[in-house]
Amino acid sequence: MLESAKMSKNGMLTKILSRIRTDPFSANYELVGKELGRGKFAVVKKCIEKATGRQCAAKFLRKRRKGQDCRMDILNEIAVLESAKANPYVVALYEVYETNNEIILVLECAAGGEIFNQCVADNDDAFTENDVIRLAKQILTGVAFLHRNNLVHLDLKPQNILLTCARPLGDIRIVDFGLSRRMDKITEVREILGTPEYVAPEILSFEPISTGTDMWSIGVLTYVMLTGESPFLGEKKQETFLNISQVNVDYSQDTFDGISSQAVDFIKSLLVKNPRKRATAEECLNHPWLNSLPHPHSHPHLHARSASSLDEPETSQSESEPESPASSPELDLIDSYLVCPGQGGLKAGRDAFSFSEPPFPSLPEIKQELIC
Ligand code: ADP
Ligand code: MG
Repeated sequence: MLESAKMSKNGMLTKILSRIRTDPFSANYELVGKELGRGKFAVVKKCIEKATGRQCAAKFLRKRRKGQDCRMDILNEIAVLESAKANPYVVALYEVYETNNEIILVLECAAGGEIFNQCVADNDDAFTENDVIRLAKQILTGVAFLHRNNLVHLDLKPQNILLTCARPLGDIRIVDFGLSRRMDKITEVREILGTPEYVAPEILSFEPISTGTDMWSIGVLTYVMLTGESPFLGEKKQETFLNISQVNVDYSQDTFDGISSQAVDFIKSLLVKNPRKRATAEECLNHPWLNSLPHPHSHPHLHARSASSLDEPETSQSESEPESPASSPELDLIDSYLVCPGQGGLKAGRDAFSFSEPPFPSLPEIKQELIC
């Protein structure tokens, strides 16, 4: 079959290689422990494959969401995981099951949890700069693989980057390919979803997305991993959008205390408004910061955090079928309409937005219907 025939519009992959099993998941897997995490339409639970004793993560995805059949979106997620299976930093997909209401992805278990937890942790558990260098290299190796294969992730954030082990610090696994697309096939950007703090300016202004869109998110991710602060997060979502559109970033000595100037230079090469001027994943891998010797001042970020920034995402609910949104904010840019279920997580890494500045000077097309 011709490659183009395998695609639906908007860069979604539709042909999958995995056999979709319809025999009962519970006959082959035993659920153990509490849930590993949840998102807007999925819950992820630890399980053991009965035949082998292998520990896995089962992602239960609802096929109907907001009254719509989303089976094709799930097939896209499966197809992207299949396309990336040669890369060790992309989570492995073992098996797929389907029931009346759900599709279950049996995934490699990343037992160390989200890097989000260390990003907001206090000193002992926070990343050192040397940790961030090692993990950033792995993230970039995974993302460079995706980009070489014309795939974009489009939802890179600390909740979607997991660790094989938290202590000692293991390796990263990139998860959650629900928004991923074939880059050259995207015709319409308005259906693309994202998370306010991590979305690139071109998403907000409905300009074309590209591999550069992921690179922006890696810039935000690296900033958060090093400082524990979210560079664009404002008090309100409209402040966050304005900060992004103006690339309003705090690179002060205070925020980057004890962090090398090469690290700051690395972030600056990514948080660039013009996507074509951002460093590519391959260029980042050659950046001096990632190839520098271990840093003597390698200590956890020292910034005192507000109580709210230490709030962990709620992951202890036991039922599947989550109706309520995940703890991380989601931004739905569908048909120019935005649904923002809530802020949460990281501390804003910047001064409060000044209302003396004109609102959305460069975003006239977003207007109020996108702000909630
Ligand atoms: P969603 O598309 O709903 O955001 P994700 O794939 O991001 O779903 O999974 C939700 C959460 O579940 C993740 O943020 C993470 O905490 C946890 N999780 C997902 N996949 C795994 C895995 N393979 N191993 C361990 N935990 C996982
Ligand atoms: Mg997710």
